[in-house]
Order: sequence, then C-alpha cells, then structure tokens
Amino acid sequence: MVTIEVACRHCNETQPVRKHGKGRGGYPRYYCNDCKRTFQLSYLYRAHQPGMKEKIIEMASQGAGIRHTSRTLKVGLNTVMRYLKTAEPVG
Ligand SMILES: [Zn+2]
Repeated sequence: MVTIEVACRHCNETQPVRKHGKGRGGYPRYYCNDCKRTFQLSYLYRAHQPGMKEKIIEMASQGAGIRHTSRTLKVGLNTVMRYLKTAEPVG
C-alpha cells in the first residue's frame, strides 16, 4: 500500500493518507486514515476555496451584479446569493 504525507482537509492533521482514485477533473483523491474521509488537494469547482466568500463580497460592494460575480468567479448563482445573505450587512 502506498502512503504519502498530506494534510487532511477535514481534520487538518498531516498524516499518512491512501490514494483513493481520482475525482472530478482528474485530480487524485486521498483517503484519510484518521477521520476515514476522502478529499482532494485541489478541486475543479472553487466555490469553497478559502477567500472565495471575501471575493464575492468585495465584488458585490463594488457594485457587481450577482450574475456578473457568478460568471467571473465561476461559482454558481445560488452560491453567490448564499454567501451574500450570510454576509454582514454593510452600512
Ligand atoms: Zn482526516
């Protein structure tokens, strides 16, 4: 069995993980031996990347529309709306 050291995105521990095939976009998936969950190091869909919420809010505060934000950042319309709803009200 091939194990490599990768930081698990669920438990945030660097530990041996097993390869777990490939996910969407051909990125390798890994299986965490500790929390028994699978994850990828990089994802095709970037809506849940750190900083995405900030980018969405920044664009909205600059007057960009929801559709424009969604298209520019390549995240779903509903994702943009959800982030904006949960954001702190400005002003
Ligand atoms: Zn884990």
